[in-house]
Amino acid sequence: MCGIFGVFGHPEAANITYLGLHALQHRGQESAGIVVSDGDHLRPVRKMGLVADAFTRDELAGLPGHMAIGHVRYSTSGESALKNAQPFSVEYVHGAIAVAHNGNLVNASDLRRKLEMDGSIFQTTSDSEVLIHLIARARELETEHRIVTALKQVEGAYSLLFLTEHKLIAMRDPMGFRPLAIGRLKDAFVFASESCAFDLLEAELIREVEPGEVVIVDAKGLRTYRPFSPEPTRFCVFEHVYFARPDSMIDGRSVYRVREALGRRLAKEHPVDADIVVPVPDSGTAAAIGFARQADIPYEMGLIRSHYVGRTFIEPQQSIRHFGVKLKLNAVKEILNGKRVVVVDDSLVRGTTSRKIVKMLRDAGAREVHLRISSPPTTHPCFYGIDTPTRSELIASSHSPEEIARYVTCDSIGYLSVEGMMEAVRAAAPGDGAERRHCDACFTGKYPIEFRPGTISSLKRVVN
Ligand code: AMP
Repeated sequence: MCGIFGVFGHPEAANITYLGLHALQHRGQESAGIVVSDGDHLRPVRKMGLVADAFTRDELAGLPGHMAIGHVRYSTSGESALKNAQPFSVEYVHGAIAVAHNGNLVNASDLRRKLEMDGSIFQTTSDSEVLIHLIARARELETEHRIVTALKQVEGAYSLLFLTEHKLIAMRDPMGFRPLAIGRLKDAFVFASESCAFDLLEAELIREVEPGEVVIVDAKGLRTYRPFSPEPTRFCVFEHVYFARPDSMIDGRSVYRVREALGRRLAKEHPVDADIVVPVPDSGTAAAIGFARQADIPYEMGLIRSHYVGRTFIEPQQSIRHFGVKLKLNAVKEILNGKRVVVVDDSLVRGTTSRKIVKMLRDAGAREVHLRISSPPTTHPCFYGIDTPTRSELIASSHSPEEIARYVTCDSIGYLSVEGMMEAVRAAAPGDGAERRHCDACFTGKYPIEFRPGTISSLKRVVN
């Protein structure tokens, strides 16, 4: 869960990257970083915290250059600490190189152990540093060839941006788990995890970087090649369900349209007599709109979200119970009192949020509460870059929907089926048939990359 941004050929590369990262803030709130090249040197600034707080005007002014890459981080591997903030940048025998990574390398611990046995010294605990070591050991002359040699040893999910003194290199893993798009901003090329970053900059979305494609931009222009043997694509379906911004185009389709279609399909699979449809904002909003339209039930904003809840919060001494969700959401009593309510959220992970929301709706006077989830039960952890807890904490891995309904105290529960989800995703990009496949391992346990138990030492507990 990270966002990456890059620009080549713009006199204000640092400022452009700052804005691009701001649009990608939802993909990571732990740390933010920018590395700029002026053609001779790379200059990095990395900070903990949000983009708007991390960089001062003076710091950005102190980053001259016409090419840059940036990163916002939400750790799925390695602890949350400044040393793990990206982009990483190093000096090595071929000059300077920086990397920004979105994804998760599943064999990183194995590779790291081997490199350490061979004398490598690591400065961070993040899996992305392994890449830099592998690149430094590669013998090829051109940076892009060294990068490919390194990546052929790596298994997992990666959308990557590299910056050297003279080049920007963008690539996606052969299965294309995580998004990455190319845009044009006047004479400059821009790269971003999601197209919403281009909208902010008034840049034009050209296309997505294809799975397995390497894109190189330097003084000679943009060129591209495909050094990996082709694999069936496996774009992450959870990007559509929850993670990406609804105003983005990813995977050739509008995230908003996908979510609306998920909600419509959910209404067909789990209809219910009710007075109003209420989203859990913001994650359930577009699906709730689809549900309400399909079911022909009025849509109401029965829950209001505070947009000022940070990740860290100091609990006052005075004990007021149930702080967590109340701080973020409040129920509108006038809307809910006496009503039969369908409440729609995108996913149910441990069930603690839903339980609190159901109580909040009942306390506000809801007569019935019917929970509808616009994805299937989350039964398996993700090893490809989405932060999910271990299996034992995923309530659906050991409980039936009926048991979950009892736990969250709702009158009924309905999850979207796997087939329903995939049909909704396909319907949002008609003509984009069976050749485009998705990773749905968190819902099915069908992991597209085999992994050997024990190699996933990097999996950590969810932090939110
Ligand atoms: P839980 O209380 O664990 O069931 O949390 C479910 C809520 O967390 C839903 O509202 C989701 O939108 C949200 N959610 C789902 N996956 C994630 C994730 N990987 N990181 C943060 N929030 C998530």
